[in-house]
Amino acid sequence: MTGPSTTHYDTVVIGGAALGSSVAYWLSENPDYDGSVLVIEPDPTYEHASTTLSEASVRHQFSNPVNIALSQFATEFIADFHERVQVDGESPDLGFRDTGYLFLATETGMPTLRQNHEVQRSCGVEVALLTPDNLLARFPYLNVDDLAGAGLGLRHEGNIDAYSLFRGFYRRARHNGVEYLADRVVDLRLSNGRVTTVGLDSGNVIGCNRIVNCAGPRARWVAEMARLPLPVEPRIRSVFVFDCREPLEGDPLPLTIDPSGLHVRTDPPQYMAGIPPADDCAVDPDDFRVRRADWEDRIWPLLIHRIPQFERIAVTHTWAGHYAYNTLDQNAVVGPADAVPNFYFANGFSGHGLQQSPGVGRAISELITYGEYRTLDLSDLGHDRIVHGEPFLERNII
Ligand SMILES: Cc1cc2nc3c(=O)[nH]c(=O)nc-3n(C[C@H](O)[C@H](O)[C@H](O)COP(=O)(O)OP(=O)(O)OC[C@H]3O[C@@H](n4cnc5c(N)ncnc54)[C@H](O)[C@@H]3O)c2cc1C
Repeated sequence: MTGPSTTHYDTVVIGGAALGSSVAYWLSENPDYDGSVLVIEPDPTYEHASTTLSEASVRHQFSNPVNIALSQFATEFIADFHERVQVDGESPDLGFRDTGYLFLATETGMPTLRQNHEVQRSCGVEVALLTPDNLLARFPYLNVDDLAGAGLGLRHEGNIDAYSLFRGFYRRARHNGVEYLADRVVDLRLSNGRVTTVGLDSGNVIGCNRIVNCAGPRARWVAEMARLPLPVEPRIRSVFVFDCREPLEGDPLPLTIDPSGLHVRTDPPQYMAGIPPADDCAVDPDDFRVRRADWEDRIWPLLIHRIPQFERIAVTHTWAGHYAYNTLDQNAVVGPADAVPNFYFANGFSGHGLQQSPGVGRAISELITYGEYRTLDLSDLGHDRIVHGEPFLERNII
């Protein structure tokens, strides 16, 4: 559409990628929500959104029951995706590949791995603790000399097509009457501690009853427009896709997290790897340069150490995207601001926002519609912990 159909909306969602479109989808699906929804998104191609640049993996192996529950809901959502988002009988293909996650541990890492394993089992996660011998039996291409064990997800972990997940939310939300406007939010006006209008790059001004901040790596600047603190910054993550001359024999390579911080997974018929940059700091949100030196100096040597066959590989393509990195605890910030109660956050997802988008979108829609969580209680992810500087810890961060 070229312009909004009216000058006032009940809910204005800022940013229309996975999180923004999920919020819009869930509101528009809920018969108890009878308001209007406008999503404002400056880039209708979504070319630079974290959503499009994601590695799009889903795992249940978190250390915190809240994060586990969010991913378990993602699994349910993926299973029913076609029915939930179809429009005229059609829906995008998520292409879920159930290849698992494999968390490798040295002797030093074993107590944490065991602790996480206990939490995961108590939450019903299908996960196994493997010895180095078990590892070799399943994945004979791994070097296990320096390993003491591993956690392997047995079901429901793997990867999906990120763009299809987003498109599912988007198409269905539009079909349900949600409006999308190509513009950028540049200003929020407050009156009596509430957001009343949203100022746009085009000069248009939209009145609202509430806003939802889904601006990804740029979320902090939207929060600042309402003078709210949000310790979220863009951090670069480079992805390297490569061919291996001799295919690995044994079970397909799960998304494997090495004790060094390297991760690598199968991306049939290729492989995909990444590592946080050595100088992991805030970057310009328009900086998408692939950190090629990381490949040469760090990733490839670590790959060869863990899988010696990876000495004979060729990188075929690369890209870089941004984590919306929450410097307090790398976990999501979800829910209203105490100081501005009609300002809702859905921010700071770092490297696990795609899989949390179905659950967080549903949770925000419940807060807006009923004033409380009805399914998953996400209070622990609330903004008050930011205000009080109290981290909500997750030990399994990638
Ligand atoms: C390399 C990489 C690998 C990843 N791997 C995984 C993974 O394996 N599993 C997983 O779950 N997650 C992963 N993530 C994280 C996941 O992709 C993100 O957490 C998720 O996509 C965030 O979605 P979002 O909608 O919050 O943000 P985005 O997708 O970044 O969307 C934000 C949108 O807000 C818009 N916007 C910004 N400012 C404004 C403004 N002022 N006004 C209006 N709109 C605005 C932007 O244009 C953008 O479209 C990865 C991320 C990267 C970069």
